[in-house]
Amino acid sequence: MPLAAQGWQQEVNYQIEVSLNDTAHTLTGFEKVEYVNNSPDELPFLYFHLWPNAYKNQSTAFAKQQLENGSAKFYYSKSAERGFIDGLAFEADGKPLTWEYDKKNPDIAKITLPRPLKKGEKITIQTPFTVKIPDSFSRLGHVGQSYQITQWYPKPAVYDAKGWHPMPYLDQGEFYSEFGSFDVQITLPQNYVVGATGRLQNPEEQTWLAQKVQETIQKNGNFNEKDLSFPPSALQLKTLQYKQDSIHDFAWFADKRFHVLTDTVPLPNSNRKVIAWAMFTNEEASLWTKGAQYVADAVYFYSDKVGLYPYNHCTAVQSALSAGAGMEYPMITVIGKSGSAKALEDVILHEVGHNWFYGILASNERQHPWMDEGMNSYYEYRYLAEKYPDAKLIGEMANTGIGRAFDLTAYKSSDLMYYLYLIHARKNADQAIDQPAADYTPLNYGGIVYGKTALVFTYLQAAIGTPTLDSIMHEYYRQYSFKHPYPQDLKQLFAAKTGNHLNWFFDDMLNTTKKLDYSLVSRKRNAKTIGNTQYDLLTLKQNKKTGIEAPFSVTAFKDGQPVQTNWYDGFTGASEVTFPAGNYDVLKVDALQQMPETNRRNNTLHLHKLFKRMEPLRLQPFGSLENPNRTQLFFAPAIGYNVYDKFMLGMAFYNSLIPVRPVQFTLVPMYAVGSNSFSGIGEVSWNKYPSKVFEHVELALGGATFGNGNFSVFSTDTSLTDRTLSTEVYKFYRIAPRLELTFKKKNPRHAIERRLTLRHVNVLRNTYNCPPNTNCSAVPQDFYLNELAFTCRNNRRINPLGWSVTMQQGKEFALAQAEVKYLFSYGNSPKSGLAVRLFGAAFLQNNTLTDTNSPVLLPLTMRGGYDYAIDQVFIGRNEPEGFWTHQVGTGAGGFKVPLSIGYTDKYLLAANLKASVPMLKKLPLKLYADIGIPYTDVADDGLWSGKVFFDGGIALTPVPDAIEVYWSLVSSNNIKEVYEANNLKWYERITFLINFSALNPIKAVRNFNFNL
Ligand SMILES: [Zn+2]
Repeated sequence: MPLAAQGWQQEVNYQIEVSLNDTAHTLTGFEKVEYVNNSPDELPFLYFHLWPNAYKNQSTAFAKQQLENGSAKFYYSKSAERGFIDGLAFEADGKPLTWEYDKKNPDIAKITLPRPLKKGEKITIQTPFTVKIPDSFSRLGHVGQSYQITQWYPKPAVYDAKGWHPMPYLDQGEFYSEFGSFDVQITLPQNYVVGATGRLQNPEEQTWLAQKVQETIQKNGNFNEKDLSFPPSALQLKTLQYKQDSIHDFAWFADKRFHVLTDTVPLPNSNRKVIAWAMFTNEEASLWTKGAQYVADAVYFYSDKVGLYPYNHCTAVQSALSAGAGMEYPMITVIGKSGSAKALEDVILHEVGHNWFYGILASNERQHPWMDEGMNSYYEYRYLAEKYPDAKLIGEMANTGIGRAFDLTAYKSSDLMYYLYLIHARKNADQAIDQPAADYTPLNYGGIVYGKTALVFTYLQAAIGTPTLDSIMHEYYRQYSFKHPYPQDLKQLFAAKTGNHLNWFFDDMLNTTKKLDYSLVSRKRNAKTIGNTQYDLLTLKQNKKTGIEAPFSVTAFKDGQPVQTNWYDGFTGASEVTFPAGNYDVLKVDALQQMPETNRRNNTLHLHKLFKRMEPLRLQPFGSLENPNRTQLFFAPAIGYNVYDKFMLGMAFYNSLIPVRPVQFTLVPMYAVGSNSFSGIGEVSWNKYPSKVFEHVELALGGATFGNGNFSVFSTDTSLTDRTLSTEVYKFYRIAPRLELTFKKKNPRHAIERRLTLRHVNVLRNTYNCPPNTNCSAVPQDFYLNELAFTCRNNRRINPLGWSVTMQQGKEFALAQAEVKYLFSYGNSPKSGLAVRLFGAAFLQNNTLTDTNSPVLLPLTMRGGYDYAIDQVFIGRNEPEGFWTHQVGTGAGGFKVPLSIGYTDKYLLAANLKASVPMLKKLPLKLYADIGIPYTDVADDGLWSGKVFFDGGIALTPVPDAIEVYWSLVSSNNIKEVYEANNLKWYERITFLINFSALNPIKAVRNFNFNL
C-alpha cells in the first residue's frame, strides 16, 4: 500500500525536567510522555527506546557494530567510561506499569499499557530517570565538562502503517521518531552556555546570551585557540526552559567555554526571519567567526530550493563528536573539528540541511538512509557547485606544480562523489542505494548512501530539468512536512508530476547495482533525412545484462567548443539514434559528466582521427586518477639490488591505479650493473567481478628474471697460481600463470574471505660446471610446479583466524601443506595479542634429491636456497655465507635461525608464536618462539629426524609481517650445538625479514580502501 494513503500519524508530547551533575557526569530527570494513538489499531503495549543503554556493555548492538566497522575504542573502554540509563519507574494513571527490556537489546523496552489504547485515545506515561553520560564514543557523551546530550531520554518508537519500529541505537544508521511537542527544563550551573532544540523561554538568559554575543564580537577574532581549559562551575544553578511544537527529537549541548555569534536570515519570498546561532570554543574559533553566517546561508538555500524553514531559529554548536564530522538534530546541529573554513562551511551546510531531510521530512533513516543522507548530500553538492563552481578536487593545490605534475588540475571538487562510487563500482563491490543503513560496509555507507545518491539526483536534475525537479521537491515538502514519507511516496509524486514512471531511476538506479555504461561506437554521416534536415546516425551500445535503460546525452564539439547537446531515451543492447548532421570534430556521450557512467573511456568519437576511439597518450610520472580524456601510461623510477645483479636501475610502467581496470599491467624492466644484463619483473592480469559465486576472478601472468648465483671460470693454464679467469652470474627465468577465485561473501559486511588459487610456476636456470681444464658446461635446472590452494580468513577485529590448505605437484614430488593462524587478542589494541601459527606438511612423493638438480625440501627456517618456486625475494638467494644469509622468508617451519638445519623431504610439523608485550605498547617489540619437528631419513644421518627443535627470542617489528628483525636468545641443544660448532657470536644469531610482496606500492594503491 502506498504510504501516502496512510493518512494518520502518532503524536507524542513530552514534558521533561532534567538536571546536570557536572562532577559525576550524570543527568537526573523526570519525564511525562503523552502518547496519542491516531492509528486505526488498538495498542496493548508501547515500545520505548532507552538509548543511553547502548553504551552499557560490549554486547549491545552499537558495541558490536563499532567493532565490525573497525573501531575498537568502545570495545576496550573501561566501565567508568561507559554510560547507561537507570532509575526507571514507568507509571500511568498513578499506577506502576509492567515493562521489560528487549531480550537482545538493553536499549529497547516494551511497556504494557493498563488497557489497550484504542484509536483516538491518549495516555500519559511518566518516569524518573538517571543517565550516566558516557565518554565520547559516538553521539551522546561528554569530554570533561563539555556535554553532548543527545538520544538521552526514554522515547517511544515509531508506530506507522508498517507497524512498530523498535531499533537499538547504532552509529551507522540513524533515527526515526514521532512528531509532537517538547517542553524541557534544564537545571545546571549558571555559567554554562546551552545550545538546544526549541525556543528558549527565559528572558534573563536571552539577555545573558546577547551579552555573550557582544563579548565575542569585541574579541574581534582574537581567540586563544590553545586555551581549552574549563572555568570552575558557578555554585548557583539556573533552570532554562525550552518549548517547541512539530519536532521529533530534542538535543542540547552545554559548555562553559562557548563563544556565541548570531546572524539573521530573511526567508525567500516571505516576511519571516530566522535567527542563526553559532556557539564554539577557542578551538578553531577563527574558523567559527563566520559560523552563524554559514548557518544563515544554509537556511536560506534550503528554504529556497525545498521549502520555508518553519522554526524561528537554527543553531550550530562546536563540540566533541565521535560519529562523523557533524550531526543533526531538530533546529540544532553539532559540528566536530573541521580543519578549514571550507570544510566547516560544508559540514554546517550539510547538517543544517538535515532540518529538511530528517527534521521536517522525517523519513525512516534506519531503513532508507538515502532519503535523508543522500538527498541532503545532493543539495549540499548543488550548493557548493553553485557557490564555488571552480573548486577543485585537490583544492588550492590544483594550481600548483604538484597539481600539474600529477595531472590533477582538471578534477572538480564535485568529482569526489563520482570517484568514491567508481572505486567500489569497478570492483562490483558497490551496494544498491535503497538498503537499510546497517547493511552497508562503512565504505559504501559513504560512497553509496551519500555519494551515489547525490550523483543520481544530479543526473535526474539534468535529465528532467532543474525547474521540474525543483517544483516536485517543493511539492514533496508541502505534502510530507512533519510526516514520515517512504520511497514509494516520492516515486508517486515524480510519476504524477512528470507523467513518467522514471523506472530507470526509482528501480534501477536506487534499487540495483546495475552499471550505467553507454559506449559510442560509430557515426554514419547524413544517413537520414527528415523533412529538410539531414541527420547523422550514431550507433551506441550498453551491456544488456548489467546496463540501465536510462536517458543519455550526446554532445557535438567543433574546435573544442560544444555546439549541440541532445538527450535520448535509454536502452540496453545496441541502438541507433539520430543527431543533426554537421561538420563536428568530436561526439561525446555525457560530455558534461552528469551521468554516473562507470566507464567514460568509451564515450568519445574523434571523427577526424585515424583511431576514432583512442585518446591521446599521456606518459604520467607516478600516477593519477583515471582520466577518460587520455590514454594513460604511468611510470616511476625503479631501483633494486641483489648480491648477483648488484644495483639495478629501471622503470616501472603500469596502466592503472585508481580505480582498477579490467586489464591491468605492471612491467618493471631494469638494467643490472653487476650482471651487466637485463633483470626485472612484470605481471598482466585480467579481472572480472561477477555477481554470483565469485566476487573476483583474476587470471594473471607473472614473469621475473634476476641473478641467482655466481660461478667461476678457470683458466686451462696450469702454470698459473690463480687460475680464476672471471666470476660470472647465472640467472633464473620464472614464469607463473595464476587463476585466483575469490568467493562471494555471504553479505558485503561479512568478515570471512575465501579464495581458491590455481597456479603453475616454471623456473629455468642454468648453473655452470667449470672444471679447470675444460670449458664450462651448463647444468640446466628446469623446475615446475602446479599448485591448488584454498585459503579462508576471518578478518574479524578481535581474535582473527585464518587457515589454508595447499597441494603442490611437480617433477618427482608432491606436497601437501596445511596452516592455521590465530590471534589471541589481548592488550588494549586489536593489533596486539598472541599470534599462533600451526603448520604441517607431508611430501606424498619426493625423488628430487636423487632424480633432479633442484631438490625440493622444507626447512625449519625459510632461506633463499629452499625457496624452490622463487616465490619470495631474497637479496642473496644462494649465498653460502655473509650478511645476506641472515635474511629469512616466510612459510615452512617459520623459524628465524640463520642455519640450514632441520630440513626435510618427508614431514614437517611446526608451531610459531609471536606475542605482543603490553607493557611496551609504544615500542615495536615482540617475543617469539618456534617449535618444529622434522621427519626425514635423508640428509641428516638420523641427527634430527623426529627431534624437537626450539628457538625463541626478541623480534623488532617496525612494519609487522613485512619488515622484522629477530634475535635468537633461547634455543634447543640441537640448534645451540650448530651455533657453537660454527662459532656464531650473539650478533650473528640475528636474522631479518623483508617481505617485498607486502611492500608493493602499486598493489597497495590499487587495493586501498578509500573512505570518506
Ligand atoms: Zn548527514
